[in-house]
Amino acid sequence: MTYSETIFAPATSVGTGAISIIRVSGPESTEIADRLITFRHGEAASSTGYSLKYGSILEESGTLDEVVAAIYRAPQSYTGEDMVEIMCHSSQYVVARLLELLGRAGARPAMPGEFTRRAFVNGKMDLSQAEAVADLIASTSESAHRLAMNQLKGNYSAKLSDIRGKLIEIASLMELELDFSDEDIEFADRDRLAALLDEAVSHIDGLCASFRDGNAIKNGVPVVIAGNVNTGKSTLLNALVGDSRAIVSDIPGTTRDTVEDTMIIDGILYRFIDTAGIRETSDKVEKMGISRTLDRISEADVIILVLDALAPLKELEKSVSSILPRLSTGQELICVRNKVDLFDAIHPEEFPVKDRSYNIFDLKYPAFGTYDIGTEDLARKLCLASDGKFPAAAVSGEIIDISALTGEGIDKLLDRLSKGRRGRFTSEEILVTNARHANALRRASESIARVRDALSGHVPTDLLSQDLREALREIGSITGEITDEEVLGEIFGRFCIGK
Ligand code: GDP
Repeated sequence: MTYSETIFAPATSVGTGAISIIRVSGPESTEIADRLITFRHGEAASSTGYSLKYGSILEESGTLDEVVAAIYRAPQSYTGEDMVEIMCHSSQYVVARLLELLGRAGARPAMPGEFTRRAFVNGKMDLSQAEAVADLIASTSESAHRLAMNQLKGNYSAKLSDIRGKLIEIASLMELELDFSDEDIEFADRDRLAALLDEAVSHIDGLCASFRDGNAIKNGVPVVIAGNVNTGKSTLLNALVGDSRAIVSDIPGTTRDTVEDTMIIDGILYRFIDTAGIRETSDKVEKMGISRTLDRISEADVIILVLDALAPLKELEKSVSSILPRLSTGQELICVRNKVDLFDAIHPEEFPVKDRSYNIFDLKYPAFGTYDIGTEDLARKLCLASDGKFPAAAVSGEIIDISALTGEGIDKLLDRLSKGRRGRFTSEEILVTNARHANALRRASESIARVRDALSGHVPTDLLSQDLREALREIGSITGEITDEEVLGEIFGRFCIGK
């Protein structure tokens, strides 16, 4: 498909740099540039491709600007069409006037994403690569950049195309059988089909599962700061991100809603979410805040549970037990003991050093006895305390002593955070970052699971191939390919049935 209209739009944000670039794409790009720009030595944009030309934009009132134009010839351009990129000075006036002149010269303003859309339609990239362009532009961290770049380079598309290849092979085997169904012949080796299906599902499910990490890399790893009221959650958020975003106050229940801030640690973007402290309350607004907190805990990748070093044991136990039922596999719980600076301030008789250990579990779980949360690994205890519901592996290491007020221990906490993700988030692994893709993959997996079930139940192949086509369509929808035609092409091409 070729577009007849020539479009234009600024490719840079106006007013922030020395130069602005205005992109023009479509069949008339070079002619329009020639109408607008008087090139040096009487050259014409339409005469040569792949060049940079210097020229002036002359108006009756005088020279508007001196510009450099980059000229590209179809199909060797971003959109696959003839293109001109005009570099002018980044004056709001110049850019606005230039856009006006381009409109008068016969082009029209581009719609959002229209250049990339043309690139997709012209086969310069597939749909997932086009989406990666948006991710690349939006990336703020090293890991998000790497992921978008991987997708843009086509690694993700190659993986999908691999999966599609497998599905098409299965479809071909089935369709072949279909063709001869009148003759009551079962062609396809069902064991082989089953093995191929299992393989495809395992690849698809692997991609589906990667969405949690992919999404965290793209939008920031959600880290919820949770705990009882007044344990220092807001102070900790401020200590982590280094400003005073969250409201800090010694009136319990100040953070009634959630407050967020982001920070890049070790090339990974984190989204810290300060939450309303969990406690029993009759205040309606606070209740809503607490319910939001519990939701955020369920959605988080990491939960930093803030315990007050000087809080009564009962409080600590409440904190832990209100959070445990909300956690699931894959989440990481980091317990911090805050306000350790107060250890030095209080009178030794009141709080002897040797007793700076907690006994969180002995109230509810007397069998565990005294437990020094300052030094020991919590994992096993938490696992037991939750009756095995909470996977021990998710609790990361021992409790970290911190003072959100003085900054003591914060570096240790940051280190723990990045340790959990360093290897996982910085590998070259292919991850799904897009909810649309994750949903399509999930539906594809469900369809294949149906095929698999039906296969063992000896259901006729025509019903199986329906679900298989559905799975193919879903996978194809990610990269923007048309599926059914291709299945047919594959069948006729490979088996030479000749119909
Ligand atoms: P939140 O309700 O959990 O968000 O608690 P805030 O961050 O509002 O803090 C409650 C009170 O504890 C405030 O008076 C803070 O100044 C104080 N606080 C927080 N962290 C520390 C700390 O590490 N040391 C000391 N001494 N006080 C702290």
